[in-house]
Amino acid sequence: MSGNESRVQAISQIVNRKLMPAQPPKRLEDMWATDVFNLSKMQASLPKSIFKSVKNTVQTGQKLDPSVADVVAVAMKDWAVSKGALYYAHVFYPLTNGTAEKHDGFISVQGDGSVISEFAGKVLVQGEPDGSSFPNGGIRSTAAARGYTAWDVTSPAYVMETDNGMTLCIPTVFISWTGEALDKKTPLLRSIAAMNKAATRVLKLLGNTEVAPVNSSCGAEQEYFLIDSNFANSRPDLMLAGRTLFGKPPAKGQQFDDHYFGAIPERVQVFMQEVEERMYRLGIPAKTRHNEVAPGQFEIAPFFESANVASDHQQLTMTILRNTAKKHGFMCLLHEKPFAGINGSGKHVNWSVGNATQGNLLDPGDTPHSNVQFLVFCGAVIRGVHKYGPLLRAVVATASNDHRLGANEAPPAIISVYLGSQLEDIFEQITKGGIQGSQGRGIMNLGVETLPTFIKDAGDRNRTSPFAFTGNRFEFRAVGSGQSVSGPLVAMNTILADSLDWVANKLESDLAKGTELNAAIQTVLKEVMDDHGAVVFGGNGYSEEWHKMAAERGLANLRTTADALTVLKAGYIEDLFEKTGVLTPVELESRYDVYAEQYLLAIEVEAKLVGSMAKTMIYPAAVRYLAELSGTISKLKEIGIELEKESAEKVATLVKSMMDTASKLSAALSKHDFATTEDHMQYASQTIRPLMDEVRQYADALEGEVADDLWPLPTYQEMLFIK
Ligand code: ADP
Ligand code: MG
Repeated sequence: MSGNESRVQAISQIVNRKLMPAQPPKRLEDMWATDVFNLSKMQASLPKSIFKSVKNTVQTGQKLDPSVADVVAVAMKDWAVSKGALYYAHVFYPLTNGTAEKHDGFISVQGDGSVISEFAGKVLVQGEPDGSSFPNGGIRSTAAARGYTAWDVTSPAYVMETDNGMTLCIPTVFISWTGEALDKKTPLLRSIAAMNKAATRVLKLLGNTEVAPVNSSCGAEQEYFLIDSNFANSRPDLMLAGRTLFGKPPAKGQQFDDHYFGAIPERVQVFMQEVEERMYRLGIPAKTRHNEVAPGQFEIAPFFESANVASDHQQLTMTILRNTAKKHGFMCLLHEKPFAGINGSGKHVNWSVGNATQGNLLDPGDTPHSNVQFLVFCGAVIRGVHKYGPLLRAVVATASNDHRLGANEAPPAIISVYLGSQLEDIFEQITKGGIQGSQGRGIMNLGVETLPTFIKDAGDRNRTSPFAFTGNRFEFRAVGSGQSVSGPLVAMNTILADSLDWVANKLESDLAKGTELNAAIQTVLKEVMDDHGAVVFGGNGYSEEWHKMAAERGLANLRTTADALTVLKAGYIEDLFEKTGVLTPVELESRYDVYAEQYLLAIEVEAKLVGSMAKTMIYPAAVRYLAELSGTISKLKEIGIELEKESAEKVATLVKSMMDTASKLSAALSKHDFATTEDHMQYASQTIRPLMDEVRQYADALEGEVADDLWPLPTYQEMLFIK
């Protein structure tokens, strides 16, 4: 096929496609968690004492009694086998943002040649996948190559239906033989433990006698694009890089905002219904769905859950979106910026902390008592975000997210906190020392006279802030759509743990000096605002003024991943992770190495694709058109008609510029001698990327000149508007 024949064929296939039949509607109760081995299924199948022991581990994080594993394993296997599973898999989360699993059969061959299905406690609890192909930043390259997976009892096992049938999936951590975390779950669990410890200290100092374990919660809003696979499969860039490296913006983009909250097209509706059913069966509480701003863009958000389970569920959600899309003839794009000039995709991570006794600690409530508690926790967040803002930037730093952050559709790379006018006012009063506290009848009371009763959602919305308070939680909006939420959750939990420890130390020493509790709290809050109030910003985060003001306030603006990742090497970040016990220096360094390597790899793959697509797809189309055009011009000249030559000259010039730049790009890619990884990243960001953009600029201009029937790539218009 030449020229646009493949495009024409794709369009006719799409237009004549038979819709996947919509599933008959099912009752939620008939779908909910049918594929999950949750507490209620354990209760039904386990002896009472064993069930109590497992439940204790799940709910309070206490160590699992090893003797129960065998009994649980048998019950789990029997349940999975009854659902049709022949295999089990330890599922783990390597540093790549992906999900990995190794499948093993339940089959056990007996002496007489017969087989039984078998699953012992020790294989439930521990596995040894051949994980040597996962990036580990050098942790395992030297001595032992072994990596182990270990059962995370706090995240329920489930059966997953794939083309290979049903598999029992067991969420696990992935650690090296030397005990270092090779995955994203281990530090998440450690960060929750660190935050719990510090939060408990503070809650006790605030006078609470009974304090249940404090956990963090997460609700992640996932944005994504759906593109018909007939188009996606004829675009090497979408297939290999997940984004278009070429493509002229369509005459009609998203200017009319007519997609946002518009009716969901029927075909997408059928797709979403299947996604939701699969999520419900896996116990993932899908809650909202709607169109997003860009054409072809959608969002799905679950009801929030505990951070660890939410993080596993988020990984599953990405897998389900991708696999279900394939079934429906779509490609699901989770890239942060699949189309230049069109809004990209993010993942808003809603995050809070709380427990069973004090409730949501970031809920202002409406009593003075909980207001005090709230102000202390909210103040601790403000301090953390200010002190460790660059870390929050670093954990969302990827080659793909660089296209989105700061592009007037997503928050800037400057990390600030939005509180809403009501809270901003209260914290300003604190700075001025205006709120007077006094201890009143049993209930703690921080200036009831001056402290207004909070009205939930009183604050307006500010979509330009990267870190916004939204009524009873913070919403971290700089996270990329394709990212695991674990890194951001680890960062938020860890900086909060650090801040709460600082608060607890202050309060303890003030109380020891005989200061009254309310006065001590006010002093702490005032110090937080004096030292860290600069991070609070309620204005337009997209504006030029903010960039200037932020610089004056000393807030970092780390524009690229190359700038941001080096934060992981800073001494104060190493100290933070070491003293909270979340990551050892070796583990932190390995993360820097892996993320830097992934950044370089992503840019290298894209740069090579830019070169090859320019040369083998765009150049041939342009010279064919040029031949046609110049042939016609000279033929007409023979019969005395002068056709203007400008258009041929323009095409020729663009072709030459494109190919010259592509050669420069290819030469630039052959440089490999870099003193440090930082240098290499800066080179990728400052030299390779601009050359790629330049090649694209010429190619996109050619798309506007070359005859449409010769153009080899599905256009933006086709991909975004034909459904
Ligand atoms: P919006 O688009 O207005 O931000 P959505 O309803 O799409 O709101 O998403 C809000 C997300 O925040 C949901 O996933 C919701 O469950 C979650 N959320 C609500 N309360 C909390 C909380 N206390 N902790 C964590 N997430 C929360
Ligand atoms: Mg949101």
